[in-house]
Amino acid sequence: MKAAPFEYLRASSLDEAIEALAGTPDARVLAGGQSLVPLLNLRQARPPLVVDINRVDELSFLRKENGRLEIGALTRHRVVETSAVVRSEVPLLAEALGFVGHVAIRNRGTVGGSLAHADPAAELPAVMVALDAEFSVRGPAGERVIAARDFFLGPHRTALEPGELLTRISVPTHRGGWAVEELSRRSRDLALVAVFATVTLSGEVCETARIAVAGAGPTPIRATAAEEALVGGALTDDAIALAAELVAAATDPPGDLHAPADYRREMAAVLTRRAIARAEEGA
Ligand SMILES: Cc1cc2nc3c(=O)[nH]c(=O)nc-3n(C[C@H](O)[C@H](O)[C@H](O)COP(=O)(O)OP(=O)(O)OC[C@H]3O[C@@H](n4cnc5c(N)ncnc54)[C@H](O)[C@@H]3O)c2cc1C
Repeated sequence: MKAAPFEYLRASSLDEAIEALAGTPDARVLAGGQSLVPLLNLRQARPPLVVDINRVDELSFLRKENGRLEIGALTRHRVVETSAVVRSEVPLLAEALGFVGHVAIRNRGTVGGSLAHADPAAELPAVMVALDAEFSVRGPAGERVIAARDFFLGPHRTALEPGELLTRISVPTHRGGWAVEELSRRSRDLALVAVFATVTLSGEVCETARIAVAGAGPTPIRATAAEEALVGGALTDDAIALAAELVAAATDPPGDLHAPADYRREMAAVLTRRAIARAEEGA
C-alpha cells in the first residue's frame, strides 16, 4: 500500500517545527521514519501534515554534562550505541541499543523517535525508566521536563501534548554491573519480554538495584518491589529468586499470537534471574 496524501514540511529550525505542529492538529513529526513510514504506508497513520525534523541540527547532540548524558532527540541509535562515552558512562544503554532492530534500522532510527513511539516492547523506553531519565519537551507553551516513568501512558501513548516535540533526553550515568536479557522469536525482532538491570555492591551487600521490564505490560514496568527486596542483602540464589517472583508479579503482560500472557510472565522471572546474576558478576 501507499500512504494517504499528506502535506510535507522540512523544518529547518526547532521553532519552525513547533509552529507547524501547533498550526495543524494531528500533524506528525518525521524523524528516522523507521516506525512512522510503515505506519503511513499501511494507512494506520493518516496525518494531514508531516513535519520532517531531519535538518533541525540543534536536536542532534550527545555529550556528558554534570554527571549526566545529554542526548538530542534526533541523535541516531547507532551514534549512541557506538559512543565511547556512552559505553563507559551508561553501558546499559549501549548494550540495549544493540537489540533495537538491525544496524540499518539503527543508522536511521533516533532516540527521540523510539521514545515518542512508545512501543511497550521497545528497549529504549524501559532503559530510560530503569535509569530515571528525564525528557525535555518543547511546544507552543514553552519547555517542560517529564520524568521517564511519567512519560509512558499506554501502548503508543505518551505525556506529549498536541504540538509538543521531544527535544532532549537526560540520562544519569551509572556504576556497577548491568545486564540486558531479551527473549524474541528471531534475533533482533521486537522483544517478547526483556529485562534491564543494574546493580552496585558494597562488599557482598547489594547497595542499589534497578530493574525494568519491556513487553510485559502496556508501558515499561519499573520493578520497585523487587529492587527493594534486593537492596541491603547479599545476592544469594534465594534473594534473586524472590526478586524474580516479585518482577513477575509486577507484570501485566498481553497475550497475543506471539506468546500467551503466562509465558511472558514466567519468562520475565527467568530473564530477571539471569540479568541480576550477570549484573552482579559485572559489579
Ligand atoms: C524491521 C524493523 C525492526 C525493528 N525492531 C525494533 C526493535 O527491536 N526495538 C525497537 O524498539 N524498535 C524496533 N523497530 C522500530 C524502530 O526502530 C523505532 O521505533 C524507530 O527507530 C523510531 O525512531 P525513528 O526516528 O525512526 O522514529 P519515526 O519513525 O520517525 O517516528 C516514530 C514516532 O515518533 C514520533 N516522533 C519522532 N520523533 C519525535 C520527536 N522528537 N518528538 C515527538 N515525536 C516524535 C513520530 O511522529 C512517530 O509517531 C523496528 C523497526 C523496523 C522497521
